[in-house]
Amino acid sequence: MEISLDVPFVLGVLAEERELALREIRDLGVVRAYENSRDRHDARIAAAPDVGTLACRAGCTWCCHFSVDVRAVEVFSILEFVERTLSSEEKARVFSEVRANALKLEGMDDFERMRHNVKCPFLLSGRCSIYAARPQTCRNYHATAVAGCQASFEDPDNLDIDPEFAPMVYQAGGAHVDAFSRAMREAGYDTDVYELNSALAAALSDPHALDRLEARSPPFAKLNGDDVPGEFEDL
Ligand code: SF4
Repeated sequence: MEISLDVPFVLGVLAEERELALREIRDLGVVRAYENSRDRHDARIAAAPDVGTLACRAGCTWCCHFSVDVRAVEVFSILEFVERTLSSEEKARVFSEVRANALKLEGMDDFERMRHNVKCPFLLSGRCSIYAARPQTCRNYHATAVAGCQASFEDPDNLDIDPEFAPMVYQAGGAHVDAFSRAMREAGYDTDVYELNSALAAALSDPHALDRLEARSPPFAKLNGDDVPGEFEDL
C-alpha cells in the first residue's frame, strides 16, 4: 500500500522521542528507558488521527503466527515481565514452545521465516499473555481489514499479499521505534534485530546476556543479529 509521508510529523516524532530516550537511557538504564518509551509508543499510536480505522480486536490472532523481529532490549524486558506475571506452569509451557520454535526456525533467512507460520509462544487461549510487554513489532502491526491478515496466514508462500494499514498509525509507530533505536545506537547499545524465538532462547540459555547488553557489548554469545535500517532512516 502506497502512502504519502507526513514528513514534518515524522521528523517531530523522531526528534521528540530521541531526545527523551537519550536522557532516560543515561538516567535509568537502557531496559527501564525502553519500558518508558514503550508507554509513550502506545500513547502515540492511540493519538493517531486514523486509529479508529483499525480492524485489530482482542481475539483476532492471525498475525500472532507471523515472524516477529525484536531488539535485545525488548527480550530482557519481556523475560522480566514473564518472570513477574506468569505462573510456573505457564512459564514452563512458554519456554518449551520458545525452544521448539527456535529449533524449527534455525537456519532460515528472513524470507523463509515469512513463508512459515509459527504460533507465537505467548499466544494463550486466543490472547497475548504478555500484552503489556509485547514487542514493538506487535505494537506496530496494524490493519484496517482482517482479510489481508487472514489471507497471509492461509497462504504464507504468497509474499505479495499487502494488508491494508492506517497511514498515520504506521508513521507514528514507525518513527517512535526508529527514534528509540537511534538513541540506543548513539548511546552505544546493540540495536541489531533478531527473530523473537531465537533471541528468547539465546537469552534463556545465557545468564550473562543482559550484563553484556548493559555493558554495550553484543548480548548473545551464539546469535548474530541483523543491522536493519530504520523505517525512516533517510529522513
Ligand atoms: S507477543 Fe503477543 S501480540 Fe506479539 S505475536 Fe506474540 S501473542 Fe501476538
